[in-house]
Amino acid sequence: MAVICLAIIGLEGWRDWSERKQELSRIESEMRNLAKSLAQHAEDTFNLADAILVDMVDRIEHHGTPSEDIAGMEDFLSDRIQTLQALKALTIYGEDGFLLSSSLPGHTKVNVRDLAFFQHHSASSEKKWFFGPIIRDPLGSDWVLTLSRRLNKADGSFGGVVQVSIPPRYFSNFFGRFDLGSKGSVTMVSATNAQVLARFPYVNGVIQASSEWLKSSYGLRAYVSPVDGVARLAAYQRNHVYPVVLVAAVSQDEALANWTEEFQLRSLGIAVLVLIIAVLGWRLAQELRRREQVESELAVLATTDGLTGLANRRTFDHRLETEWLRASRDGTPLSLLLIDVDQFKAYNDIYGHQQGDDCLRKVAKVIADAVNRPGDFVARYGGEEIVVLLPNTDEPGAAKVAENIRAQVEALALHHEANAPSYTLTISIGSVTQAPAFDRSHAGPTELVHMADKALYQAKQAGRNQVAIAKAA
Ligand code: GH3
Ligand code: MG
Ligand code: MG
Repeated sequence: MAVICLAIIGLEGWRDWSERKQELSRIESEMRNLAKSLAQHAEDTFNLADAILVDMVDRIEHHGTPSEDIAGMEDFLSDRIQTLQALKALTIYGEDGFLLSSSLPGHTKVNVRDLAFFQHHSASSEKKWFFGPIIRDPLGSDWVLTLSRRLNKADGSFGGVVQVSIPPRYFSNFFGRFDLGSKGSVTMVSATNAQVLARFPYVNGVIQASSEWLKSSYGLRAYVSPVDGVARLAAYQRNHVYPVVLVAAVSQDEALANWTEEFQLRSLGIAVLVLIIAVLGWRLAQELRRREQVESELAVLATTDGLTGLANRRTFDHRLETEWLRASRDGTPLSLLLIDVDQFKAYNDIYGHQQGDDCLRKVAKVIADAVNRPGDFVARYGGEEIVVLLPNTDEPGAAKVAENIRAQVEALALHHEANAPSYTLTISIGSVTQAPAFDRSHAGPTELVHMADKALYQAKQAGRNQVAIAKAA
């Protein structure tokens, strides 16, 4: 039963564990796919913004548009980005950092001389786009991401910057459309400095993310969010064009919620089952033990005599048969003593049956203690007659044992008024020794008992309290 219980628990544990693994790998692949598509979306958004920048640079540089004309381009700029939700503003700054024109009207005295994107372009003649760190929008106070390109004058010298600003809110809202449970999150991290550029749920301000996200271009990670302290499982994917990493994450609790619920229910079921099996097993074991005990008690009862504790008649018959066969095979002598208490009927009559029983027990104990070779066997033959089987014992040996028993019983010195002349309890013994033969036509085990009985009769006739030896027929 214990093995069955352990097997059930083991199998169930193994099953739960492998289901958990499957569930986790399903979640991981979902997160990985989501991170990939979000990275692609970010790239598409920045490409769109850059296309506008390229167009503006081309327009201004090729037409050699003077600053005064740029200042009048406000309507044009706002038309260019009007339909694009991702872009907050398209702005052109002059070589001194002052705003020349913007799709967001009403900002004239703005100067971006100190901002990263402006410093980058004024210092580097490189014509490639520049993806800036998250900054406070110079045209407002909210946080924005910037993508910008350098404007060259006809002679190739620095002529200003064209810049678009992208509010992190735009990405936040987009990320929010995906179902990641109530504690899931999507984060866009800068691949340059691990700053959080955009996140769903939205957070205001600049947050530093773990540099672990930058270690490889994609991967899986379990982490605890520095923003809300939630333990999450995440897949991340870096975009190979723009320096951003997209992280899609679900909370560990929620990811495994279904599994955990099923696991708990099943564990409860298994616990109940195992408990039932254990209780039934225990009961069964108890019952088996009880039966075993009863059986062994019955076995003892079936083979022993209740009064004296000696082997009973039935056991003696078996034993006699076995010893007879053994002796005939080995060619060894087999002796038998038949012992009878003298004047026992009178003893009972005088002292009562109770006392008689007591006396019988004492005699039985003396006899049992007197024979001690392995193979020697004492049994209650019936009434107050006790039989002793002495394998491999010759006639003089048997006579010695018999005499010893007789003397010891006499030495008990139990008073017996009717047993003259000693007035002490005594026994008579008939002893017989035979060399058993396989051929039982004239002598078998029954004959042995019969001869002992005859010898016993002679002992009684001769005055009791003595040993008589059967003469060979
Ligand atoms: P003898 O000397 O000739 O043997 O005389 P006896 O009275 O002993 O004669 P016998 O052996 O025939 O007597 C058997 C008596 O033993 C009968 C009964 O009173 C007594 N007896 C037999 N079995 C028991 C027993 O289990 N308990 C008691 N108390 N007495 C028994
Ligand atoms: Mg008798
Ligand atoms: Mg007797």
